Amino acid sequence: GRLVAGAAEGEERELETALRPKNLDDFVGQQRVRRQLSLVLEAARLRGRTADHVLMSGPPGLGKTTLAMIIAGEMNAPLRISSGPAIQHAGDLAAILSSLTEGEVLFLDEIHRMSRPAEEMLYMAMEDFRVDIVVGKGAGATSIPLEIPPFTLVGATTRAGLLPGPLRDRFGFTGHLEFYSTEELELVLRRSALLLDMKVNSAGFTQIASRSRGTPRIANRLLRRVRDWALVGGLEQVDSRAASAALEMYEVDEKGLDRLDRSVLEALCRKFAGGPVGLSTLAIAVGEETETVETVAEPFLVREGLLGRTPRGRIAMPAAWEHLGLVPPPDSPG
Ligand code: ADP
Repeated sequence: GRLVAGAAEGEERELETALRPKNLDDFVGQQRVRRQLSLVLEAARLRGRTADHVLMSGPPGLGKTTLAMIIAGEMNAPLRISSGPAIQHAGDLAAILSSLTEGEVLFLDEIHRMSRPAEEMLYMAMEDFRVDIVVGKGAGATSIPLEIPPFTLVGATTRAGLLPGPLRDRFGFTGHLEFYSTEELELVLRRSALLLDMKVNSAGFTQIASRSRGTPRIANRLLRRVRDWALVGGLEQVDSRAASAALEMYEVDEKGLDRLDRSVLEALCRKFAGGPVGLSTLAIAVGEETETVETVAEPFLVREGLLGRTPRGRIAMPAAWEHLGLVPPPDSPG
């Protein structure tokens, strides 16, 4: 898989699980969301009720799944995991909902990618803890109401704006996860290095953190690549030079841009003279899906001041030309 973007697979996934913080206190950063969430959970506990439905929004790898697991842990409730793309028919959702136990936490990743009929079933389940199961076809079809036990839905989406209003409105609380600062990522890395039994000095941590695009998943991933590099090179302790040499080898540059990020910027500057160009045209130019460019590459490029979003399309900012070592044309839009 790709080093920077994309979901974890195989051994990678096992390590990811091992590195996941188990409670709110171990969860680094996101102070606002953490405080809000802790209040929601505490109130539910005091009332002796299941917690309100929670929506987590933010780019991949910032901790949405981890928080869902923490919510279940803190509520002492079992956790069920599924995702929007896995729920193609309302029946898929009905099967999950009808098998929930009281107080269970249901985590739906990429909830914005659920099918329309499933979405409508979910509205009712969230509000009234009830679903209508349609039996039969055509004129003979009847719907049978089915009660489901109170549960807590934790939905995750890369952008809250992708959700239809009625669905968004049914969440009692929305937590917006932000990119992490370098200092926060250093804390994530220190904790992971300890768990992986790795020796890294302070400058080494800073070096890895500053190339991690504000994202804990990427920080952990880069740490493991550095670990491989140190192992093969017979290095006792990782310092700044070792970390940057290792990451250069994996084509992660000093700003943390990977190959996809750079190819988006290169296409924008070289093929489209700095834009403006439509997102889907840009995605085709780099051979990626529009959603990947929009949710994985773009938020970080915008935050770094490299790419701008305008009503007429995406534009290269002056920093993009500079980062690529290119000279912008005199009439460039940035
Ligand atoms: P998302 O669901 O948003 O894509 P995950 O919850 O799967 O992200 O997090 C990816 C990895 O990053 C996990 O292995 C977890 O260990 C780590 N991680 C995420 N957020 C934090 C955090 N705040 N503190 C420590 N580790 C974190």
